[in-house]
Amino acid sequence: MIYSTFKDLKLSKLGFGCMRFASDPATGQIDQAKVNAMFDLAIKEGVNYFDTAYPYLGGNSEIAMAEALSRYPRESYYIADKFPGHSLTGPIDNIALFNVSLRKCRTDYFDFYLLHNVTEWSEQFYESAEYHIIPDILRMKEEGKIRYLGFSCHGGPKFLDAFLTRHEGEFDFVQIQLNYLDWTLQDAKKKCEIIARHGLGIWVMEPVRGGKLAVLPEEESARLRELHAKTGGSGAYPGDASYAFRFLQDIPEVKVILSGMNEVFQVEDNLRTFREEWPLSDEERDILLRIAENLKRGVPCTACRYCCDGCPVGLNIPYLLECYNDFKFAQTLTPSMRIDALEEEKRPAACIGCGQCAHACPQHIDVPAALAELAEMYEKGPHWSETVKARSKAMQEDLK
Ligand code: SF4
Ligand code: SF4
Repeated sequence: MIYSTFKDLKLSKLGFGCMRFASDPATGQIDQAKVNAMFDLAIKEGVNYFDTAYPYLGGNSEIAMAEALSRYPRESYYIADKFPGHSLTGPIDNIALFNVSLRKCRTDYFDFYLLHNVTEWSEQFYESAEYHIIPDILRMKEEGKIRYLGFSCHGGPKFLDAFLTRHEGEFDFVQIQLNYLDWTLQDAKKKCEIIARHGLGIWVMEPVRGGKLAVLPEEESARLRELHAKTGGSGAYPGDASYAFRFLQDIPEVKVILSGMNEVFQVEDNLRTFREEWPLSDEERDILLRIAENLKRGVPCTACRYCCDGCPVGLNIPYLLECYNDFKFAQTLTPSMRIDALEEEKRPAACIGCGQCAHACPQHIDVPAALAELAEMYEKGPHWSETVKARSKAMQEDLK
C-alpha cells in the first residue's frame, strides 16, 4: 500500500468510500457480510481510511461501516464522517446531530470530519449566524471530538478560494472532485493550485467519475490497452480505472483518494493499483488527457442523487441522464429501451421544467434542458418491440 504523510498520521492513499455498499433490492438492507469481507481484504492490504457521511445509503452507511470496523482496534484505522449542512431546511441542534453520527459510528471521536458539499448554494447555510454550524463544529474540534477538519466542495475555483480565505486557519484539508476528465472540465487543476496555496491537503472524491472512467467506451479503452501492451510488459491489462487512479497518485498534495467500492473484485483491482508507486509516463498522461477531451459529450452527472428528493414528479434524474449521455454518445437502441422500461409519468417528457434539480446539482447541470432534449431524441426513436420492453421492465425490477 502506498501511504501519505499528513500531519502526524500515515494515511493509506486509497481510502474506502462507504457510499455504495451493495444492498438487498427488496428490503434495502445492506449486505453486511459483503461489507465485512471487503473491509477485511482492504485492511489486510493496508487500507486504514474509511469515509462515510450522515446521509449515505439512507443513514445506513455509518452503521454498516461501524459494524465492519468494530472487529478491529479503534486505533488501527481512521474514520471520516460529514455534517449534512447542505441538506438542512432550517437551524437544528448541530451538536445533537454530530452526536448521532458518533453514536452510529460507535466512536467518541472522528479522525476526520467534513462539512458536506460546500458550494455557492450551500454556503448560505454553512455561514449563517442563525444555523451556527461552523462555530459548533469548531467547538467539537476544540473538545477533541474531531482531530482534523475539512470540507467537501463542488463549488468553482473562485468560490473555493474565497471560502478558504474567509476561513483561513479553520480547516486542515479539502475534498474535491478530481480525475483526469475534471482536470479541465471542472477546472480541478486550478482548484488543486488554490488548495495548495492555502497550505491544505487534497482529498479526492469521484476519482473514476461515478464509474465512467473505470469502464471507458470501447475505442478509448482500446487505446489504453494498446499503450499497456507497449509499455506495461507482459502483465495483464490492469483496467481502465487503474489509469485514472495513477493520474491522481502523481499530484503531490493529494493525500487520500476515495473509491466507493461495492464488490470484492473492485477492492482487489484497486489494491493492485495502490500496492506500489506507479507513476504515469508523459505519454500515458497525454493520452489520458486526450481521452478526456473525447469524452466531453453529454452531461457530467455523477449519480450523487442530490437532485432527486425535491423533484415534484419523482423522476429518477441520474437514470435519465445516463440515457441522455448514451444518446449523445451514439444513437443506439439501448437508451430507448431503458426509457421504454419506465412508466409513462417517469419518462423525460414528464419533466415540468421547474428547475429545482439544476439548483441542487453540484455539477451545475442544466437538467431540464437535457431532459427536454432527451424527450425529443426519445420521441424520434428508434423504439423497441413490446417483447423487449417487457424484458427491460423485468430487468429494472431486478436492479431496484
Ligand atoms: S426540472 Fe424536471 S427533473 Fe428537474 S426537478 Fe423539476 S420536474 Fe424534476
Ligand atoms: S443531475 Fe446533478 S444532482 Fe442529480 S444525480 Fe446528476 S450530478 Fe447529482
